Amino acid sequence: MDAAKYIWMNGEFKAWNEAQTHVLSHTLHYGNGVIEGTKAYKTDNGYAIFRLNDHTKRLKESAKMTLIDIPYSVEELNEAQVELLRKNEFTGDNVYIRPFAFLGYGVMGLYHKGAPVETVIAAWEWGAYLGEEGLKSGIRLKIASMSRPANTSNMGKAKATANYLNSQMAKFEAIECGYDEALLLDDQGYVAEASGACFFMVKDGEIISPPNDNSLASITQKTVIELAQDMGYTVTRRRVSREEIYVADEAFLTGTAAEITPIREVDARVIGSGSRGPITEIIQSKYFDIVFGRDEKYKHYLTYI
Ligand SMILES: *Cc1c(COP(=O)(O)O)cnc(C)c1O
Repeated sequence: MDAAKYIWMNGEFKAWNEAQTHVLSHTLHYGNGVIEGTKAYKTDNGYAIFRLNDHTKRLKESAKMTLIDIPYSVEELNEAQVELLRKNEFTGDNVYIRPFAFLGYGVMGLYHKGAPVETVIAAWEWGAYLGEEGLKSGIRLKIASMSRPANTSNMGKAKATANYLNSQMAKFEAIECGYDEALLLDDQGYVAEASGACFFMVKDGEIISPPNDNSLASITQKTVIELAQDMGYTVTRRRVSREEIYVADEAFLTGTAAEITPIREVDARVIGSGSRGPITEIIQSKYFDIVFGRDEKYKHYLTYI
């Protein structure tokens, strides 16, 4: 990864290499931490962070769910992110921002009440998460052999570090099998989401995405639903089974990192024409117009730094 100049840590800007923690930090052992993934794009008026407040709010809510008390307000964390981008003087097309909170050094054992909460924001320049070619021509998905943990034993609505063991195993399996990304089903066999992005399909002109019953409440998914409806498409939220995907006309993933990534194949079944579908292309291009500040209608989602 590309190092930047500064990392914000517990209220201070530290040099990139000096933002460190003890090896006995609680989260390293037991996995209770929360993250965000936020993105800034270089517009004609400098960098603008997309839906900053929504991302920061979700960080605080993920922390509340997992019993981590972040000692900063949403406003303070928003300000810190803006300041961090200014101080780092980035030049690339876009910047990925990773705010997170974890339990630091001082307490061992599972009862974490006394463990210090470390709050950090890092940012760096990061290319297309699933590749430039993936954005253009689509990626190949494998349905993971493991399902996403059931709601009875998991907090899937939290962007919690602990949830990524499942995602990581699924992703590794998919790539080792020659695919680009994993799609996870829920414990009932319906589509949950990809390892770090939400799923959409198009059938007979209708755009379909599963409800967030067993997936993160994705901000990009919400954005896509809004812009698709504004463009006159019918968007339906309903359960999707694996066979339906195989015979979909188009499919794509949404996420801050994944942006709008077309899916061209799932489990050796070619989706539609085997490339980026026409509706996917329209939505993708609208999304990039919005995040790059080229669409007046959605400018309220941008925080210029
Ligand atoms: C971050 C993430 C997403 C995408 O959420 P956005 O808010 O769109 O960035 C989807 N699923 C999982 C598991 C994630 O971690």
